[in-house]
Amino acid sequence: MGVVIVTGGSRGIGAAICRQVSEQGHTVVVNYAGDQAAADAVADDTGGLAVRANVADEADVVRLFDAAEELGTLTGVVCNAGITGTFGRLDGQSLDSVRKVFETNVYGVFLGNREAVRRMSTKYGRGGGVIVNISSTAAKRGSPGEWVHYAASKSAVETLTYGLAQEVADEGIRVNCVAPGMVDTDMHAAAGIPDRLDRVAPSIPLKRAGRPDEIAEGVAWLLSDAASYVVGSVLTISGGR
Ligand code: NAP
Repeated sequence: MGVVIVTGGSRGIGAAICRQVSEQGHTVVVNYAGDQAAADAVADDTGGLAVRANVADEADVVRLFDAAEELGTLTGVVCNAGITGTFGRLDGQSLDSVRKVFETNVYGVFLGNREAVRRMSTKYGRGGGVIVNISSTAAKRGSPGEWVHYAASKSAVETLTYGLAQEVADEGIRVNCVAPGMVDTDMHAAAGIPDRLDRVAPSIPLKRAGRPDEIAEGVAWLLSDAASYVVGSVLTISGGR
């Protein structure tokens, strides 16, 4: 078992991924942006290492991967960090807010995936590995009236996944995506809509939001050898919505 980086591993879905990945026997690197106490708590739980790095900053991402490689052989990267930006219609959005969403969700995944290929591909003399990107069912729904810009950023994540998966499949790297539906994390309150889970739940066939550990199950499966023939896929975990 090798080292797995989880971006945005300090809270929500990322923290659940860190816990499952560590139970699989991997050494976990818990990346975070600002909440050091939360990241340290996950690192303590998992015996991992918390590393502060902005996924949208090239130098930070290189430093994050350097720190991971000091722990052992890098075998997995989960690009989970993401933000929604401002809740509301597209015609009320500011460019600054939308730019930050694309920097985190799209450039962040680009940088994490590029660095992962450079450090895991047999083309670079490495032993291979697995990349899992976290998208959203918003990519298909478009999220009208809520966050079209966020949905568009997640669509970019899925296209990047599909294309890169084909580029590196014969270099020992499997690239896939997990698209969660609505999950019970801080993300909704952070966007200023703490009651969103209750409002949306009736429209979900399972009539409830998902739990972070239910998303982490899918990520752990994609990271494992059980998913050895899964390449360029989007695994939807959404309670049917
Ligand atoms: P969350 O609870 O808000 O946690 C976000 C995590 O990302 C935190 O660990 C945060 O670090 C980190 N982060 C944010 N910006 C970062 C940056 N620039 N660099 C590094 N880390 C950064 O979010 P979540 O709900 O778990 O969402 C995780 C992923 O799932 C996101 O990609 C999100 O779009 C996707 N998703 C979520 C839902 C949902 O309903 N919750 C649904 C579909 C998809 P700090 O703790 O330091 O702030």
